[in-house]
Amino acid sequence: MKITRFSFNAFQELTYVLWDETSGECAIIDPGCYYRRECEVLDNFISNNKLTVKHLLLTHLHLDHYFGAPYLSRTYGVPVSASQADDFLLNLMPMQADMYGTPLPEAPIATGRYLQEGDTIYVGNEPIEVLHVPGHSKGSLAYYLPQSGCVFCGDALFEGSIGRTDLPGGDYEELLNAVRTRLFTLPADTVAYPGHGGDTTIGEEMRSNPFFQ
Ligand SMILES: [Zn+2]
Repeated sequence: MKITRFSFNAFQELTYVLWDETSGECAIIDPGCYYRRECEVLDNFISNNKLTVKHLLLTHLHLDHYFGAPYLSRTYGVPVSASQADDFLLNLMPMQADMYGTPLPEAPIATGRYLQEGDTIYVGNEPIEVLHVPGHSKGSLAYYLPQSGCVFCGDALFEGSIGRTDLPGGDYEELLNAVRTRLFTLPADTVAYPGHGGDTTIGEEMRSNPFFQ
């Protein structure tokens, strides 16, 4: 799988496009594109590489990961895929947008496809396994690609840190436990792509992440 990363919006959120050259299929993870020009950057990437958008995958429903979801869902005719446990965050999003001073570019839309632990989806022939890693939000998901040896962990785990747990539905102990049982059980050389900041590996975080020492 090819992986291309974009940094979007005031939160410097990372949007990933996973694409398969053979089939031309792709998945977009956490479409944080906020400004018109950010959406154009993503649109141009998709059209320049002649990609078909198969999946619009959300690790969780915080606004910085979601800004571009209504636009992309409509443009490419794919549902937003996310956990049902994060549905309540859609109603809170306009209020949070006010709080952060970043008005939503579009109103949130209903999640079209619910994903949960144990689900497998495909881009081309390559499986993507869905992991439930709650604690940053109730419905936080990670997307694991065993063949490519990488995991997209949203805001559950960062290089040297973990996601904040003071937002609605957050729970510190739940997050530590979920990272230990869902992410730290993956092979140590698995590359972890977070929602903000640098890449890391599962092994490196097990060794040096201060929250797990
Ligand atoms: Zn978040």
